[in-house]
Amino acid sequence: MRVVLADLKGRGGFVNKDTVVGGYGSRFRGFSWTTRWVERARKLYQNVPSIHVAYLAAIFADAGHDVRITHEKAVEGDVALVLSSMVDHRHEVEWAEETKRKFRMPVGFFGAPATHTPELLANHADFLIKGEPEHAVMRMAAGETMTGIVQSPAISNLDTLPFPAWDLFPRGRVRHAIGRSLLAAHSAFPVLSSRSCPEFCTYCPHRITAPYRSRSPENVVAEIEEICRQNNRAYLIFRDPLFTKERDRSMGIAEGIIRKGLPVRFECETRLDDLDKDLIDLLHRAGLATVTFGVEALDPATLKKVGRRPIPPEHQREIVAYCRAKGISTEGFYVLGFLTDTVESIRASIEYSVDLGSTLALYKILTPYPGTPLYKHMKPLITETDPEKFDGYTPTFQHPNLSADDLRYLLAAAYARFYFRPSWGVNYLGLGRWHLSALRRLEAYLQRRHVEHHIAFFGAPGSKANQQ
Ligand code: SF4
Repeated sequence: MRVVLADLKGRGGFVNKDTVVGGYGSRFRGFSWTTRWVERARKLYQNVPSIHVAYLAAIFADAGHDVRITHEKAVEGDVALVLSSMVDHRHEVEWAEETKRKFRMPVGFFGAPATHTPELLANHADFLIKGEPEHAVMRMAAGETMTGIVQSPAISNLDTLPFPAWDLFPRGRVRHAIGRSLLAAHSAFPVLSSRSCPEFCTYCPHRITAPYRSRSPENVVAEIEEICRQNNRAYLIFRDPLFTKERDRSMGIAEGIIRKGLPVRFECETRLDDLDKDLIDLLHRAGLATVTFGVEALDPATLKKVGRRPIPPEHQREIVAYCRAKGISTEGFYVLGFLTDTVESIRASIEYSVDLGSTLALYKILTPYPGTPLYKHMKPLITETDPEKFDGYTPTFQHPNLSADDLRYLLAAAYARFYFRPSWGVNYLGLGRWHLSALRRLEAYLQRRHVEHHIAFFGAPGSKANQQ
């Protein structure tokens, strides 16, 4: 059987699918000078294929089927499977309709929207896979015909899965900046050494499809060896929501890479309280180039309200500084607009993000994603009806203290405050502490301008914060 797997390149802005926001995806569109620059950089250097498509390709290929992977064009085959996202679902639906019309072949969807918002896709699909797709796809590969809603239980022993079949992907899709150097873009390969998350953040879609499971270090290292056999300068992106949740396991992976002398560099996402200096040393020796982590908000009470365990700021500062000293890039994630947030609490989070000194920062607006406990709680407040606007950067609900314009302003202000300052450039380039007094004066001037804009905006009648 010829199987077509569609990992479609998102339309409009910088679109990330698959493992991003638990599979709902995000779309970043520049809306100010700074954010347009960020959008361009992300488009150029964060161009990574879908790991779930690579897993499905491996399952079908191992069973002897002919696999075609497409990022754009409709391709003829016996059946097609489309990776679904919330932010680009209209494009995915159009692709499915065109494929069915042209080639009269059945088309199914898998991914977070197929699982949690099937109503977006059901009228355009011959079947929808609900859950992590591998179980259902193994049955398809063995000859089962799929129709309607297909339940796909999570595979409990992830070591039993084949390794993702990157050799079946068209060349030229993958490109990723390494650490601080935009010039050092390499072939990048996502790796899932664990899936889901054992934490309880009520806004997070990573944990709603299946429970947390992890692979053995031996199995992960064997996959990395396979990638290294096919590519001489591979960069790995561990897409686990919490790569170092099990300290011994992540140490086992690093030790395996070092023992076998695998020539990789990699990045991972984790909580900063799951990192310590000894672990960072070991991961760095194995090739750690970048760590990404959620800070979300500064105020511990805000975090506790959404089920997130706060991490002491002293520990965050210590880990970020230690990474900087070792030449490891860091990127903090922040969420603006928690229901208890005010202008001042968001400003405090933004100032904290600057002060923390990470190499990069990513700010988003709180988004209630279907299937999360927060979505249930916030349902009466949701005002946005277009699912594609649940992109992480668009206000989608009525905030008790802030208007949609306030949130948009604060988001733009966060990017401007973080990226539009000389010390950011110095930090990004790894030039160590900056001493030039002229630069310091310029930075102080920019900060004053930022505060003046802020006071002017929130003093204007359109601001809800002004009416409090
Ligand atoms: S720590 Fe919280 S936000 Fe991060 S992946 Fe886990 S549940 Fe989600």
